[in-house]
Order: sequence, then C-alpha cells, then structure tokens
Amino acid sequence: MNDSGFKFQQTYSQLPEIFFTRTAPVKVRQPELVILNEGLATSMNLDFSKLSSTESAALLSGNTLIADSDPIAQAYAGHQFGHFTNLGDGRAILLGEHVTADGRRLDVQLKGSGRTPYSRGGDGRAALGPMLREYIISEAMYGLGIETTRSLAVTTTGEEVYRETPLRGAILTRVAKSHIRVGTFQFAAAHRNVSFIRALADYTIDRHFPDQKETQNPALAMLSAFMEQQIRLIVQWMRVGFIHGVMNTDNMALSGETIDYGPCAFMDTYNPSTVFSSIDHGGRYAFGNQPVVAQWNIARFAETLLPLINDDSDKALTMAGEVMSRADRFYQETWLDMMRCKLGLVSKEAEDEALVRDLLDWMKDAKADYTNTFRDLTYGKSINVGPCQESEFEDWRTKWEQRRNNDLASLDESTELMRKSNPVLIPRNHKVEEALSAAQDSNLKPLLELLNVLKNPYQETKASEPYQVAGHGPYQTFCGT
Ligand code: AMP
Ligand code: MG
Repeated sequence: MNDSGFKFQQTYSQLPEIFFTRTAPVKVRQPELVILNEGLATSMNLDFSKLSSTESAALLSGNTLIADSDPIAQAYAGHQFGHFTNLGDGRAILLGEHVTADGRRLDVQLKGSGRTPYSRGGDGRAALGPMLREYIISEAMYGLGIETTRSLAVTTTGEEVYRETPLRGAILTRVAKSHIRVGTFQFAAAHRNVSFIRALADYTIDRHFPDQKETQNPALAMLSAFMEQQIRLIVQWMRVGFIHGVMNTDNMALSGETIDYGPCAFMDTYNPSTVFSSIDHGGRYAFGNQPVVAQWNIARFAETLLPLINDDSDKALTMAGEVMSRADRFYQETWLDMMRCKLGLVSKEAEDEALVRDLLDWMKDAKADYTNTFRDLTYGKSINVGPCQESEFEDWRTKWEQRRNNDLASLDESTELMRKSNPVLIPRNHKVEEALSAAQDSNLKPLLELLNVLKNPYQETKASEPYQVAGHGPYQTFCGT
C-alpha cells in the first residue's frame, strides 16, 4: 500500500544498460523511523500522516517498495584522492524519480540499503551516526541557501553494522535533482565508445542544462555552464566555511548540488589549511584548496566530453581548454563579489581585494572564528581577542568603515546585505556531536532542537546563542562508511 503521494517515473533506466543494474534494496529486520522531514515531504507533495509509523518506516527503508519503483544501483567511476577507480552505488539504491505537482523531477534514493553489484568489499550498509550527520549537514546547507541534496528520512534497521565496533544500522532516504556525477561521465568515457558518452550527455543536458540544448555545440555549452555552476557552488561553501572533505570526482554532481556528506564539517577558527577528515593526510581537500580541486575535477569532466565537442581531437582540446582557462578568473571574481557582500559592499573598488585579504590574514593570525567574526562585524559587536591583535583589527575596521561610507549602498542597505550573507549559525561540530550522541541513546531532543535553529541561520536570536559558541580543540571526522 502506498498513499504517501510518491509519483514515480523512470528515465535514468532508459540509458544504455552499462549505466546501472536493477537491484532491489535488501530487506532489513525491523525498520523504525527515527526522523522524517515533514517540511521537505510537504514541498514534494508527500503526506505520511495517513500511514502508521510502521508503514512509513517500511517504505522509507525499502522493505515495502513504493508503487512504481524500479530500483537500480547506478554505475560510476571517479578519481579518489587523485586515483582513478571504478565505483558505483555500493550501498545505495535509486527507487525512482518523483515528479512533484510543479513538475520538479527528484531522485529518491536509499543509502545504506544493502549490497549491490558495485559493493566491492563493502557490506552495503550504513550506521545511524553518519546517516543522521548527513541529515543535519544537508539540511543546514539548505537552510543556508546553498544548493544541496536533501534528507527525507532516517530509519534504523534493527540490525547491527560492524565497523571498529558494532553500531546501529540505518538507512537515509536522500532526495536529489539527480545522482549524475562527474564520475558517471568518467565511467562512460572509460568504455571508449562515443555512443555511451553521447547518451549520457544528451540525458544530462535535457535534465539539467535545457538552455544549452539548442546551442551550436551543446556539449561545450554544458561544460561552460557546469564550470560556472560548480565554481558558484564552491564560492558558497567558502562563504560559510564549509569543508566538504572528500571532493573526489564521484562526489561532484552535474545538478550543481552539494552531494555526499561524509567527513564534511564547518570550520571554526579561520585557517585555509583546515582539514577535518581523518584520511586526508596531505590536505588535498583542505578549506583553501577547494577552489583548486573543483577546477581539477571540472577538467576531468571536460576530458570526457572531448569527442562530443569536436571530431578533431586537437580542436576539441583547444575549445575545452578555452573554457578551462576562464575558470580561475571566474572563481576569483565570484569569490571577491561574495566577500564584498560579507563586508556589506555593493560597489566594486580596486582596493577591495586587499581589504578582504587583510581581514583574512588578520583572522588567521588572531585565530579568530570565521563565522563569529563576520557576525560581529554585521551586528556591530566588539571583537574578542588579545590587545595586540585588537589594535591591528581596529586599524582594519577603520579602513573598512571608510570604504563602506564611500559605497553606493546606504549604511542600512549595507547592513541588510551583511545580514543575508553572514550566517549567525552553522552546525557547530560540538553541537552536531552532542545531537548524534544523544540520538544514539534514543534521545532525539538535542537533534530536533539543532535542526530547528538551523532552519533560520541568519537570525540573531537569544534562543540561538548557545549554538553560536565556537568549538574548542581539534576535531576529526571519518568517512561515512
Ligand atoms: P564515498 O566515499 O561515500 O563517496 O563512497 C565511495 C564509494 O564506496 C562509493 O562507490 C560507495 O558506494 C562505496 N561505499 C561506501 N561505503 C560502502 C559500504 N559500506 N558498502 C559498499 N560500498 C560502499
Ligand atoms: Mg560518494
């Protein structure tokens, strides 16, 4: 029975068969709903209120298949920390594409739903902590206004998964504009058969880049649009101090959404070399490296499109190279515009870059908190640092105030812009850990409270004050396996 409102269609499975394998989710012992995202459900025209909790849990764990599901595991490849590997959904199943009343097509995927032909050595399962973590961070990103996959629900499975210790098993229901990755293109290209890459490119253009379809060279136009879209996304990450942690090419989505929340976390103290992931020894995916890595990943995407861009491989390379040669400048400009917004500046002046860099250098030296420094500037609060660093900061503040006075925006407009650009709340690592550890013991109160405040991250309220406190000490994250 399914009267929850899912309206499934299947278009991905019309691609050539190399792109997927039909695989049903493996049934679990005793699914129980931990959390259901009512707001997201409503926005998708779904309604679980007529179902019992057991029925909802059965649907959202894959024990009962949603009507018109055609479950598949998707094939893809990817550069993981620079090394090319064949991958695929090793623990995820795409149930179907839900089409909303207003015509949006959304993948509904179960993550942690058992082994698939792409599981390699893995058990196909996920633990409760990492799935709730993905729920929190993805919903926080949504609240911050950043393109992201969403989390519809987490159910526990009633089974244990074995990592270093036995953990409670769980399944996340993920909602995404699609799960096409740069790695999906790499997978197609590795077959050295142009028809595969053409089928995938046509499909992706239809689904995500319809404006590029009627251009003279759709593949080249898609590359250019994707380059700009990804760079805009990374700039948004830089705005809020988000560190993805595992920017492998298989974790970069053609939809432009942030995807695959594993070892990600938000930076407290400003330092571009911040890394949280326990496996990122070389700092490849450090905060300050994200723009460079994104460009590297986009270049891997460009390579896969060469045969579609031009039959003459030299010409194709020149044309794709022209797009890539614009990427760095596009990043620098988009980033600077974003930083201007954080400082409440509307006009563009030559001195702005130095003004921004001076502040960031000061923040690094003073070990200042990234979010709270911009919060304090926005709300005119004094900055809490040692006397020596304070005088340096006051010099900078004077320069900024002068620049702000000369700006086109009035002071009120400038402050409004800062309020919109500088979150007061991010999912602080210690608050995330607190919520996860209580949830392990079946106390959901801290989790629900955290999710609630993160819905309005730009509002400075009394209730949110405990959530604004920066974390102390080193923090480490682990891949969500
Ligand atoms: P990720 O690091 O989460 O992006 O995952 C990289 C690859 O490993 C993907 O192909 C996943 O499907 C696969 N994978 C991760 N965890 C598991 C697991 N527990 N069982 C099977 N495959 C997994
Ligand atoms: Mg992944």
